Amino acid sequence: MAGILIDKVAKSFGATSVLREVSLAIADGEFLTLLGPSGCGKSTLLRILAGLDVQTSGSLSIGDRVVDGVRPKSRDVAMVFQSYALYPHMTVAANMALPLRMRRLSSLQRLPMAGKFLPGTKAVTERIDEDVRRTAEALGIGHLLDRKPGQLSGGQRQRVAVGRAMVRQPAVFLMDEPLSNLDAKLRVQMRAEIKELHKRLGVTFVYVTHDQSEAMTMSDRVAVMLDGELLQVAPPQEIYADPTDRRVAEFIGSPK
Ligand code: ADP
Ligand code: MG
Repeated sequence: MAGILIDKVAKSFGATSVLREVSLAIADGEFLTLLGPSGCGKSTLLRILAGLDVQTSGSLSIGDRVVDGVRPKSRDVAMVFQSYALYPHMTVAANMALPLRMRRLSSLQRLPMAGKFLPGTKAVTERIDEDVRRTAEALGIGHLLDRKPGQLSGGQRQRVAVGRAMVRQPAVFLMDEPLSNLDAKLRVQMRAEIKELHKRLGVTFVYVTHDQSEAMTMSDRVAVMLDGELLQVAPPQEIYADPTDRRVAEFIGSPK
């Protein structure tokens, strides 16, 4: 179970309030999109969910667990960024394996014998390689494992970034404008691929975009965000047909 409960989460940077007591319940397995114009606080909320940033007040639960103060890698979430954030000097395979290797290292550090005896290191490395290969093949990038990011197209880099999130088998995927660096045609194709991924994995997705058609075609529900507030949270057709706030109607462009 990995639904998410956001309970009155607020965030200020100095005197500037960026999130104003945002509350939202996201169901286990839901595809929820935060939709809003640039600067409205979408990335800030996602980073707080990932544990990369800390809220000023309020509380967060993932699954049945309150995660306030829990470190990012212990949250069972994986984040895909707009910029992909791949290591340029490492191969695709090494980039994708990195989260698994980090997890293994940190679990070894907790063992009293760490450094003296590394149980089953070779077997574990082989299993990581196998997980990476299987994931890469599922994403159609199995033939690119030995390349460096600089030798890939934008779409291929995007798949590597998704693959790196997938190998961790997180309960929650957080995606921050993952398609915004792609050209229009590829963007439409990748929407379908991400939806397919969601269907196949059945885990919770929190997706961030400023692109209405992306939000409307991909989501179970859309949360329309403006100036650090959630104005309306509803299925796409309901947001179109029945915007409950004038500012939602203005943003969506439908009269009310
Ligand atoms: P979005 O992702 O919707 O474009 P962000 O969450 O990135 O919006 O930013 C929301 C607001 O918070 C913006 O006005 C931005 O300038 C501000 N902001 C974001 N991060 C910081 C920071 N580290 N320090 C100060 N202000 C920030
Ligand atoms: Mg952003």
